[in-house]
Amino acid sequence: MKISDKLNQAHSSPNPPPATFSFEFFVPKTSQGVQNLYDRMDRMYDLNPIFIDITWNAGGRSSSLTNEMVYTAQSTLGLETCMHLTCTNMKVELIDEALEKAYKSGCQNILALRGDPPLDGSESTGDFKYAKDLINYIRKKYGNHFNIGVAGYPEGHPEEDSDDDLLKYLKEKCDVGADFIITQMFYDVEIFINWCSRLRKIGINIPIIPGIMPISTYASFVRRAKWSEIHIPQHFLDALDPIKDDDFLVREKGTILLSEMCKKLLDSGYVNHLHFYTMNLERATIMILEQLNIIEPVKSHDIIGGAELPWRKSL
Ligand code: FAD
Repeated sequence: MKISDKLNQAHSSPNPPPATFSFEFFVPKTSQGVQNLYDRMDRMYDLNPIFIDITWNAGGRSSSLTNEMVYTAQSTLGLETCMHLTCTNMKVELIDEALEKAYKSGCQNILALRGDPPLDGSESTGDFKYAKDLINYIRKKYGNHFNIGVAGYPEGHPEEDSDDDLLKYLKEKCDVGADFIITQMFYDVEIFINWCSRLRKIGINIPIIPGIMPISTYASFVRRAKWSEIHIPQHFLDALDPIKDDDFLVREKGTILLSEMCKKLLDSGYVNHLHFYTMNLERATIMILEQLNIIEPVKSHDIIGGAELPWRKSL
């Protein structure tokens, strides 16, 4: 089923949930990692997310594994799955193959992305320059079969100096057929709300889904924020800095900070769905959902940790 339909259905029911939510997973490097992830996805699906999504490695590396995981998640495990697809260094034949496999898996949701440029600084050898071109192609080839999501950047994109241009390009992605937006991670709610209001003013009316990055350790929190070039509000630093060497306390405090942030997002009127960057881990995400009273408390022995193997490996 399409994500837009699922969101509409959930939020127009007579007793709408306080919020719906979804989980991002990245493709592990080893076959044991893949098996562990299937187990985790299966467990986390018991929490009742609207969908899960699986990342794509820009440039096509391990991309067949994304297709394979989408197939298993959607067809075998029965999870509503959204496949990320990037077009950097991707010839149209590879895009065709990926879409065809997704189609045959019963997957109806694609997050259409450009992907980061090649690390060696060379030009992409792909047939599509921007995410917009990929969306255009998917719409031409598959009509409305796929629900298409796009990336949004409340605090800007490293390659774009002008906020106005970045918004213009986001609008272009919407105009060629995007159905929903998932944002880059952020911690500053005011910046996000401001950005949403600008989107609505320029006629972007599709759902805006905030990307929430739970805090597991102080080092990874600071590293990811720096890498993504996002602002960390002072009260986050004040609360976390004094306990930065104690991972347990950081996760507890991080849960409180993130749930306060999610509460503000839900109260803002722009958001009724939260998208969690799980980094293939369960605990920190579950703690936030529990703190928000969106899910029932999960017994701690049902939560299993896990190795951190991000596609955003530099994060
Ligand atoms: P685009 O929207 O195409 O924008 C790319 C750049 O080009 C921007 O700077 C934009 O300003 C500029 N631009 C766009 N249109 C035009 C135009 N018409 N003229 C001139 N300039 C233009 N990466 C992965 O490799 N795999 C993933 O699975 C993945 N998942 C992600 C999920 C989310 C929710 C987010 C937010 C990002 C994800 N990324 C992923 C990272 C993403 O691929 C990078 O941020 C990438 O650099 C930009 O992708 P995009 O789709 O936003 O590109």
